[in-house]
Amino acid sequence: MTSQPIFRFAPSPNGWLHLGHAYSALYTDRAAKAMGGTMLLRIEDIDTARRKPEFVAGIFEDLQWLGLSWPQPVWFQSQRFPAYGEAAEKLRKRGLLYPCFCSRSEISARANGTDPEGAPFYPGTCRHLTKEQVGQRLAAGERAQWRLRMDEALVAGPMKIHVFAAGMNEKQQHEWQIAANPARWGDVVLVRKDTPTSYHLSVVVDDAAQGVTHVTRGMDLEAATDIHVLLQELLGLPSPFYAHHDLILDEERQKLSKSKGSQSLRDLRAAGWTAGEVRRRLGFE
Ligand code: GLU
Repeated sequence: MTSQPIFRFAPSPNGWLHLGHAYSALYTDRAAKAMGGTMLLRIEDIDTARRKPEFVAGIFEDLQWLGLSWPQPVWFQSQRFPAYGEAAEKLRKRGLLYPCFCSRSEISARANGTDPEGAPFYPGTCRHLTKEQVGQRLAAGERAQWRLRMDEALVAGPMKIHVFAAGMNEKQQHEWQIAANPARWGDVVLVRKDTPTSYHLSVVVDDAAQGVTHVTRGMDLEAATDIHVLLQELLGLPSPFYAHHDLILDEERQKLSKSKGSQSLRDLRAAGWTAGEVRRRLGFE
């Protein structure tokens, strides 16, 4: 590789960071350093109802406490809505997006199995609405989310995910490819009702815009990579290398989560933990 590798840590400010985030950030930093690269920090705050300024401040404070640093400026996804809008428009112009008016309960009632995250698999109800029907519903003030026409998107051909060995240096590095299977997601939502984008769309647009060459993140996002490589193909964006790490689990072998009240890094700090102890406990010293 001729140019410097660029990695990123991309938390969402919807709660306080916990040990799972610390692991992901330290893993990304170690992988970037091993390859002589840089780790960017990106604040993924598209969820305007859940994001809070104190959680953004908490991210900076916790990561600095752990001894991490990153170049400025830090990108905030909430300032990037026009770029996501442009990407959605590109897909819309090619007839690859369609508006969907279904509520969650309507989808659950008619779902046909589940997607890789266990959510009801969209049965395609709104896929066949005519232009007139769509126009009437929009004119009546109904709000739509926009879904990808997966079967048409797949004509892009079989797709590969480039995978790399995180933590190895340039000489030890080996890279390989695995097959992506975006079809198992069905017609995913790319533009939500409550915010003018989605995780999948914004992450792909920003990884490309920031020149990210290596993506490291938890196994819980591994299946999402199938959609990401498909979107990169459809939008003509470069595809980075990916590595998905193990998750830190609690006593019940469940992944840590803000909503379940897993202990945050600031709780641990208040309870007297040092950053060195956190790093050691996670295997970074
Ligand atoms: N913002 C996502 C999260 O906090 C991570 C996105 C990614 O690394 O692709 O789970």
